[in-house]
Amino acid sequence: MIAHRQIPFFDYPSLFSELEDEIMTSVRDVYARGAYIMQSDLFNFEAELAAYLGVRHAIGVADGTMGLLLPLLALELKPGDEVLVPSHTFVASAAAIHHAGGTPVLVDCGRDHLIDPASAGAAITHRTKGIMPVQLNGRTADMDVITDIAREHSLFIVEDSCQALGSRFKGKFAGTFGVAGSISFYPSKTLGCFGDGGAVITDDDEMAERVRILRDHGRGQDGDVLAWGFNSRLDNVQAAILRIKLKRYDGYVARRRAIASIYQERLGGRHELLLPPAPGFQDEHFDIFQNYEIEAQNRDELRTYLESRGVKTILQWGGKVLHQFSKLGLGAPLPYAERMSQRFMLLPMNTALSNDDVHYICDCIDGFYVANSQAAASA
Ligand SMILES: *Cc1c(COP(=O)(O)O)cnc(C)c1O
Repeated sequence: MIAHRQIPFFDYPSLFSELEDEIMTSVRDVYARGAYIMQSDLFNFEAELAAYLGVRHAIGVADGTMGLLLPLLALELKPGDEVLVPSHTFVASAAAIHHAGGTPVLVDCGRDHLIDPASAGAAITHRTKGIMPVQLNGRTADMDVITDIAREHSLFIVEDSCQALGSRFKGKFAGTFGVAGSISFYPSKTLGCFGDGGAVITDDDEMAERVRILRDHGRGQDGDVLAWGFNSRLDNVQAAILRIKLKRYDGYVARRRAIASIYQERLGGRHELLLPPAPGFQDEHFDIFQNYEIEAQNRDELRTYLESRGVKTILQWGGKVLHQFSKLGLGAPLPYAERMSQRFMLLPMNTALSNDDVHYICDCIDGFYVANSQAAASA
């Protein structure tokens, strides 16, 4: 019998305690300077984030959802314009398309839980204007195929890279493949601040200019109002906190990849589970493991069993993919997403976990399936 542990799904207090002194020094300094909105901490963070990603522009915005909405507004969708988006995503992805005046059209996902290019290709109509790939769980889709489809049909790409800061496909960062990408700094994201926050990343000077105007009431540099805009700025104090964390970001990602490697090593042989692709498994992909999302046989029983052993797990989006939210009326079932939603779950994945914690989780999962197969054999 293994000693019992309590493993929360996410440890919010540890985000503060691990960096408390440095963060409080910085926050005190920001407040003492009276530097609350659109000050040097924000502009420095934007420059550092742009440099990290090798893009021309990173623009702080209120949250990751606004990071999708503002670029879509800049693209001036017309009523009836369709944008393809995978069904396995946060409702925010589709909401941004809706609020920008377009129509979200859901497409299926594949075994790695990302957009299925074949399903995207099949969903294109004469009304399709763009594709929003969602770089889910910290992995970047095969962007060669997506970019080819977009080019062939003259579609824009706006990436929902909210979960994928630092993730790469063939060496190129998530969020940099289309005209713009969005990053979220929600506290549980790989680069989380202590509240809401987000950024738009783009290499396109005109897009950058429009987003800068839209996030600040439609105002240009000289204060003239150039368009109907929003108040959607990244808080200066959050930017100061994000600067501290960005310096350590590669270390956080390395730790997440090490945890994923333990899960792979311990659970990779289990036929009852489908694991995400392991770190280093495919040369083209560099995954940052925002989440560790598996598919599991007898998922609900497994979750109950883990809970009884102190291990908390969750289901993304409360267990529903977008086409299952019937009030949104987003269309017909998509076969893989439909089946996956009965089987998917998130195992704990965060930098507060110790190796022993991860081994304990794996011991519990082994314990569940061993007991299950013994029960089946004696039945
Ligand atoms: C976190 C997230 C967003 C944006 O979230 P905000 O809370 O607005 O920062 C968008 N899409 C996906 C897939 C996300 O995980």
